[in-house]
Amino acid sequence: MFHSIGSPMPPALADLTVPPALLDEQLGALREHGWRLRGLTEALDDPAPDVLALTFDDGYRDFADAAVDVLDRYDARATLYVPSDDLGGHASWMPPPADRLPVLGAADLRDLADLPERTVEIGSHGAQHVPMDVLPRATATEHLARSKRVLEDATGRAVRSMCYPHGYHAAGLRRRVAACGYDNACEIGHRLHARDGDRFAVSRVLVGPQHDPDALLDLVAHGPAPLLPAVKRAAYPAWRWVRRAARRTGRNLT
Ligand SMILES: [Zn+2]
Repeated sequence: MFHSIGSPMPPALADLTVPPALLDEQLGALREHGWRLRGLTEALDDPAPDVLALTFDDGYRDFADAAVDVLDRYDARATLYVPSDDLGGHASWMPPPADRLPVLGAADLRDLADLPERTVEIGSHGAQHVPMDVLPRATATEHLARSKRVLEDATGRAVRSMCYPHGYHAAGLRRRVAACGYDNACEIGHRLHARDGDRFAVSRVLVGPQHDPDALLDLVAHGPAPLLPAVKRAAYPAWRWVRRAARRTGRNLT
C-alpha cells in the first residue's frame, strides 16, 4: 500500500510519501527477488505464490507523474484508488493546515486505463474520502454506486476493486460493496493477506519512506513487526481527526 510518490506531506502524514528514486529501488528489489507485481484484482485471481499486489491510494497526480515510469521499468502493474468526487481537484480530506495535493482528473484516468499492458487498474476509493462505516446505509450505498459509475464512465472499463477510505469497514458495508457489483475491496490491516481471506477485506501493509530494499523484502515476507499496532496508533492522529469530523457531519454528506 503506497499513497503519494514524491509529493511533500505534512509531518503527521510523512509515512505516506515515498520518493520516486526509493520506489525504483523498492520495486527493483522485489523483482530481483522473484516477485511478480500486479494490481489487486489480478493478484487475487492469480493463485501463483510469487504474485504481490501493488496499490496506490488517493489518486494523487504524482502517481501519473512519477510512479508509472517506475512500474514500466519493472514490468509491474498496480491498482490506483480514486475518490470520485475529487477528480480533477485537490485532496479535500487532508487535515488542516496541509497543502492539499492535486488529484488526477477524468481524462488522466482514461489515459492510465489505456496504457499498454493494462499497467494500471482504476479502483474506487468511495465518492468522498470519508470513513464509510459511519455513513447512513443509504448514503454509503449511493457513494459506492456513484463512484463506480463515474470511474467507469471516465475509463470505459469495469471498476472491480474498492478501497475503504481510511480503511474502516464492517459486515454490512462489505455486503453493500458486493451488492453494488464490486469484486473485491481492501482495508489497511497492517498484516499480510491470507490467500483464503475475505475478498472484501483484503489486508495490506503500508510501504513508506523508511523501507529500504531490505526492510521491504522483510515486510512482504513476514509482515510488519509485532510492535506496529502501538506505533500505528501513535502515527495517525490526523486520521482520528478525520473520523471524528465525519461522525459529526456524516448525515450531511450527500
Ligand atoms: Zn485514502
